[in-house]
Amino acid sequence: MIEIKNLSFRYKNREALKGISFSVRQGEIFGLLGPNGSGKTTLFRILSTLFFPSSGAVSVCGFPLGEKNKMIREKIGVVFQSPSLDSKLTAAENLMHQGRLYGIAGPELKKRIGEALKKFGLSERRNERVEKLSGGLKRRVELAKGLLHRPALLILDEPSTGLDPGARLDLWNYLQSLRQESQVTIVVTTHLMDEAERCDRIAILNEGVLVGLGTPDQLKKEIGGDVILVQGKDLKGLEMKIQRQFSVKTTRNETALQIESERSERGADLAARLAQALGEEIESITFRKPTLEDVFMHRTGHTFWNEEGRR
Ligand code: ADP
Repeated sequence: MIEIKNLSFRYKNREALKGISFSVRQGEIFGLLGPNGSGKTTLFRILSTLFFPSSGAVSVCGFPLGEKNKMIREKIGVVFQSPSLDSKLTAAENLMHQGRLYGIAGPELKKRIGEALKKFGLSERRNERVEKLSGGLKRRVELAKGLLHRPALLILDEPSTGLDPGARLDLWNYLQSLRQESQVTIVVTTHLMDEAERCDRIAILNEGVLVGLGTPDQLKKEIGGDVILVQGKDLKGLEMKIQRQFSVKTTRNETALQIESERSERGADLAARLAQALGEEIESITFRKPTLEDVFMHRTGHTFWNEEGRR
């Protein structure tokens, strides 16, 4: 559905994407995961034909970007981060306008609107103005709108922004059932690990570079064994001692030392050995299975979140 080869994109004075290559298969839910500024929105804009690459080649639904943008636009559905609904119109009226933009009219349009509203549990609210709907319901109208012309590929830019946890879950349930029922391919940008976990495959972006590609499980398996987190007063000193006494890979941030256990050693065993050797200097020690956040750290050497907290 998507082929990206050596794609770069430059804003006037900033290179936002630096030679990215990957492809998306038909019928998968594919996530573009990255912290703020990693290039997700830029890539989203390219895939939705709004921007043209500075170099490299992109094809969407089998059509080369640039030459066949009209064909691509007929085949894709796009859900933007900022709401694209007319809040003074009802849910059904928003869909009607969308249908007309795509040349659908008459009984066919009526039928599709009815189906779309039903699919997203909006039938009862069809005649309510969008401004009266909750954030979660608005997102559902956006989804219905993006799918009205039956695209083969649906791309969504951070679709859960501004949604409460219940509405987020709801959105993901809809995406999953959509994929199952209609085999539509879904590409989602996100900076949330738990959303990335729900994707079949993900591409991890960092500063415009692809730093990981695969299923969440494959990516996590790359990290040898378990992840151990050590906290203490002198993290730098602790890191030096651990490196001297144990042959392990360590990463240090402001609050903790992160250590990956070897595949052959359980996290609990390594944690016990560390506690025995350096117990005096360790304030807390915990271990857990690797997460996508660990994968990011492993690949980039720094945390996903900046010092000011969660981005
Ligand atoms: P993300 O969606 O992952 O937050 P973006 O694609 O928005 O990332 O941004 C990637 C990089 O490009 C960032 O360094 C950002 O500051 C820069 N950038 C984004 N939009 C513009 C623009 N219109 N002009 C110049 N630089 C931009």
